[in-house]
Amino acid sequence: MADGNNDIEQQIRDALDVPCLKPGAMEGLKPFVAAPEHQEKLGFPGELVPDWKEKALAKMKDLAEKNRAFQVYLDACVKCGACTDKCHYFLGTGDPKNMPVARQDLLRSVYRRYFTFAGKYFPWLVGARDLTEEVLEEWYSYYHQCSECRRCSVFCPYGIDTAEITMAAREILDHIGVGQKYSNEIIGKVKSVGNNLGLNPKALRATLEDLEEDIEDDTGISVRIPLDEKGADILLVTPSADFFAEPHIDGLIGYAKVFHETGASWTLSSYASEAANFGLFIGSYENMREIALRIRKAAEDLGVKRIIFGECGHAWRVAYSFLNTLAGPFDFLDQNYPIPQHILEYTWDAIQKGQLKLDKSRNDHLTLTYHDSCNVARASRMGDMPGGQFEIPRNVIKAVCNNFYEMDRDTIRESTLCCGGGGGLLTDDLMDLRIKGASPRMKALQQVTEDHGVTHMAAICAICKTQFSKVMPKYGYDMDSIVSVHQLVSNAIILTGQETEEDEQNEEEAA
Ligand code: SF4
Ligand code: SF4
Repeated sequence: MADGNNDIEQQIRDALDVPCLKPGAMEGLKPFVAAPEHQEKLGFPGELVPDWKEKALAKMKDLAEKNRAFQVYLDACVKCGACTDKCHYFLGTGDPKNMPVARQDLLRSVYRRYFTFAGKYFPWLVGARDLTEEVLEEWYSYYHQCSECRRCSVFCPYGIDTAEITMAAREILDHIGVGQKYSNEIIGKVKSVGNNLGLNPKALRATLEDLEEDIEDDTGISVRIPLDEKGADILLVTPSADFFAEPHIDGLIGYAKVFHETGASWTLSSYASEAANFGLFIGSYENMREIALRIRKAAEDLGVKRIIFGECGHAWRVAYSFLNTLAGPFDFLDQNYPIPQHILEYTWDAIQKGQLKLDKSRNDHLTLTYHDSCNVARASRMGDMPGGQFEIPRNVIKAVCNNFYEMDRDTIRESTLCCGGGGGLLTDDLMDLRIKGASPRMKALQQVTEDHGVTHMAAICAICKTQFSKVMPKYGYDMDSIVSVHQLVSNAIILTGQETEEDEQNEEEAA
């Protein structure tokens, strides 16, 4: 780790300890509110509606009736306190309203007031309160200080999932005209252009052609990154970050090399050029479904037999857990393969079959650890065995790298810590929260840096990668200390016909 200042070092040391309470520390912190055009594109009112209170309560009632889990979560909490110190935002900020149970209570107190007997007649006895403008402000602020990571639910004896309550709160807010600019603007771009970045098909094609040239310059081998190729076997749906910036783009190169070596017939789609589905973050089933249907349409139009997802945490949750419900049945795809499949499942399969020639020493300049992304770890699976979502990424990393060390066991696998930027919080207007929320993960990283000389952290989520490349420098690491797993695969692959340094040396010696 590079030299850091004393404050940051202190912050890292304290990160997993229960912090001193700092009531109100993050009060008033909130992301920009969505403009009317961003709201209306998603089917929400453009601004706060005059009868907002009635509408908010009606929506809450509707959600409690339709979503039994939401109602159970509101009713079941016994205030045991097991979740209080499990949220990275509480650990990083000390604000008691960032304790999961307190975050839930912001909404639960209103639910009790209007929808329970005790709350209607004896509100002071059960902590029930009226829905006021101040409460609304508090909801907007603290429900945008939750990354919907679900870590707290792992420790709750009743399995209460704060993420579900956060999603419900955001949905209520959207329905009365108070949406979040960052998430809603992005969903609008996916609907109109096909991806979060607003990258049109022409620009996307040019980017992919540039990447093909880069691979050829680097390896001497022509590796294709096909776009909109009808009749391909596989449709790859990947986060648009993979088309745009490091380390994501190095991951895309890795996928292309794997497909090249396995002889796969594959394509990207300009229509479904986004794996991310921010409909999940705002709790909107309708928007989530609309985005998911783009993938179905692309698969049908291109006539593919399989759908594979690239490295993106929440996209894999939506794909693995909801895609068949949202956009199925996928009876037109080849039923001999998982529908959908993760790129890591594909690559691990290729490694096991010996289809890839790998030189692990090409990653010897890196000493690695692995960050489990929340949505992959706690809301999905890979492969056909329990825990495959933990083992398969590690198996791939160990197959392509010699130097790998785990972080503290309390911070990995199902107990993994959020990067601090998930759930629609990856926006500059929440940078203070993002930096503080990353501190528990940085603490665990610092430990393996001290103990084993770890230099880099690998991840399989576009949000994690973007967040870490932004916040790691605040903790004394270089911004390129975060890497894609398929970037490591890309480094290690020797393409068929590719001349290696060893070959060149032998040729020189022979000459
Ligand atoms: S879901 Fe994650 S961010 Fe939200 S309260 Fe729980 S631990 Fe905190
Ligand atoms: S762990 Fe569960 S039951 Fe206990 S306080 Fe937290 S949410 Fe309530």
